[in-house]
Amino acid sequence: MTGTKSRPTAAFIGLGAIGAPIARHVADHTTFAVWNRTRSVATEFATEAGARDAESPASAATGADFLLTCLPTSAQVEEVLFGANGAAASLKPGAMVIDCTSGDPANSRKICDRLARSGIAFIDAPVSGGVSGAVAGKLTVMVGGDAAALERARPILETFAAKIVHCGPIGAGDAVKAVNNALLAVHVWSTAEGLASLAKLGVDPAVALDVINSSSGRSNASMNLFPERVLNRSFPRTFRLALLDKDVGIAAGIARNTGTPAPLLEETSRLFSEARSELGEEADHIEAVKVVERRAGTTIGGRIQ
Ligand code: NDP
Repeated sequence: MTGTKSRPTAAFIGLGAIGAPIARHVADHTTFAVWNRTRSVATEFATEAGARDAESPASAATGADFLLTCLPTSAQVEEVLFGANGAAASLKPGAMVIDCTSGDPANSRKICDRLARSGIAFIDAPVSGGVSGAVAGKLTVMVGGDAAALERARPILETFAAKIVHCGPIGAGDAVKAVNNALLAVHVWSTAEGLASLAKLGVDPAVALDVINSSSGRSNASMNLFPERVLNRSFPRTFRLALLDKDVGIAAGIARNTGTPAPLLEETSRLFSEARSELGEEADHIEAVKVVERRAGTTIGGRIQ
């Protein structure tokens, strides 16, 4: 997007770990307003980005062509749209809600129908690529909704995405995101189990990863997450375990609702729920490894490669 004359007006709700860097890119290309539950976060962001710091979701949405949301779950999206001082009531007909939350397909369909009654368009547009991808403006966006709506949203999405994929009707983006993250969860947990058992056998986990990462058992977890976050015990907080637990639950629910036997996804969902109860709402998703370690009575440490 170029020039200030054609700048659309955008509003953003949810300046969390990934929401804030996404918002930063959108702010650079639009006339921008922001609302965050913790007001000080929005105030600081607005000062740095030259944006309007709105006092409520309704105020942020006033006059917006696009409203972007990036919240923990679809439940909070419903809350900020339709709750007290909600954004939906002040969005103009013809505006569009772009929901970057990793949401729930059924709730996204409900939200879309409710907004459509006021002439407001909706797409689910969850992202992958992590906080570093968001900072670099190189996320993958998986979109659910009609093709015309995606084309309208595309210039906004392009401000923070390297890849935009139309996955299907409303909820399809959410569904693909949930399955992707369920696979991440399977890889994190199964890699931890394998490495813990090898450690107890006396094999250095760094040596085991060296083999696995040039063999058929490798994954993003084994190639990047374990070497960079587990072996050196850094466990940085980039993506909360609670959110991954939510995603695996959505994926298991999709399997159930479509009559797809998925014992592995059900078990992974159960394990991540247990890890969330044990480690709390603020733990990072990679800290699930600590639960496997505790149960095994060992740690997956070793030489940093
Ligand atoms: P965070 O937990 O870091 O941030 C959540 C944001 O939502 C904060 O701005 C928080 O406000 C706000 N919020 C929470 N509850 C409410 C509520 N009841 N009403 C209004 N606002 C609320 O989450 P992330 O930014 O990490 O994740 C956001 C979404 O993106 C999730 O769906 C997640 O699964 C997905 N995602 C995250 C990735 C990551 O690497 N972090 C990667 C890909 C997808 P406050 O400041 O007040 O807490």
